[in-house]
Amino acid sequence: MTAHRAQRLKIESIETTVLDIPLVRPHVTSVGRIEKQSIALVRVRTTDGLEGIGEAVVPGGPWWSGDTIEGVEVLIRRYLAPLLIGEDASRIDFQFQRLNKLIPGAAFAKAGLEMALWDLLGKNLGLPVYQLLGGTHRRKLAVTWALGADSPEIVAEEIQRKLAEGSHISFKLKMGKSEPATDVARIADICRRIPDGTPLAVDLNGAWDESTARRWIPVLSEAGISLIEQPVARWDLEGLSRLTQISTARIMADESLLDVRDALNLAHSRVANVFALKLAKSGGIREVQRIGSIAEAYGVACYGGTTIESSLGTAAAVHAFCACGSITAGTELFGPLLLTDDIVEEPVRYSDGYVHLNDGPGLGVILDERKVAMYSR
Ligand code: MG
Repeated sequence: MTAHRAQRLKIESIETTVLDIPLVRPHVTSVGRIEKQSIALVRVRTTDGLEGIGEAVVPGGPWWSGDTIEGVEVLIRRYLAPLLIGEDASRIDFQFQRLNKLIPGAAFAKAGLEMALWDLLGKNLGLPVYQLLGGTHRRKLAVTWALGADSPEIVAEEIQRKLAEGSHISFKLKMGKSEPATDVARIADICRRIPDGTPLAVDLNGAWDESTARRWIPVLSEAGISLIEQPVARWDLEGLSRLTQISTARIMADESLLDVRDALNLAHSRVANVFALKLAKSGGIREVQRIGSIAEAYGVACYGGTTIESSLGTAAAVHAFCACGSITAGTELFGPLLLTDDIVEEPVRYSDGYVHLNDGPGLGVILDERKVAMYSR
């Protein structure tokens, strides 16, 4: 039986296609403006015709880490895929330990490949991925809504509308593009226009230095901001740690936290109160599980982050985060809501501010081949 299953999951081919999907509105960060999201769709096929699918993404261009979708595609096609052909897809942990020794880094590319192997394994066994990961801690995840960089009036109106509809109860704003005083005044203005206690987070993507952050974080907290993400550069762990000590708003590490070694270091030195977990930046589900375990051991809350995935990558994140006991600080799995279209037949389901887990085999999503063809580069 074991031999039969191993045989069934022998990898025969790996194919990667880049798709471009426009956003419903531009996503403005401290360093740029994203108008479309590019996806490297990964299809892993076995010798007896099973197919697993995965989605590799970077956060809308090279601004976040220098990674690009074109680079991801080349890494998969030319370097990673050949090392997996002929191998047993069911030995996921073994295969990636092997790949990590041969090709370090390349997390964004590996995340898409690993996702396809989980899908394949689940489909082969007829089980949803969350069951392969140890089962559910929950079956739905609260989803923060990403706000645009419009005027305070427009942003506050959007928040009021979402609250009234009941479609979202927490919100996140990007900061750091304009001069700090102006930027903070804009956020404070938004806070004054929305109901007291509405959870509102800001993400600076490392735009400030420590002294700027020291000056303005108390003002943001005072205005009502409850969570401040990556105020200083990824490498400034000491600065981040000092800010965590003085801030009443919780401080979240995103760019500073990529892998399990970062998690150990950050948790041990109490560098941040909250860890942003993302499949893409960490190379997939297994590494996110490990980071979640470190966070749990040290009592650090985790937040389910997005790299703006379609329903395919979002479904993978939902499976991973529903199976992770440390996700206690909510999620931002709004990817499919920020894209104008999706690439699967039945997109992930949202209701009342939550995204819901599915029970299909593997990741539980089926590609809409017409859409795939339509958005292919
Ligand atoms: Mg972030």
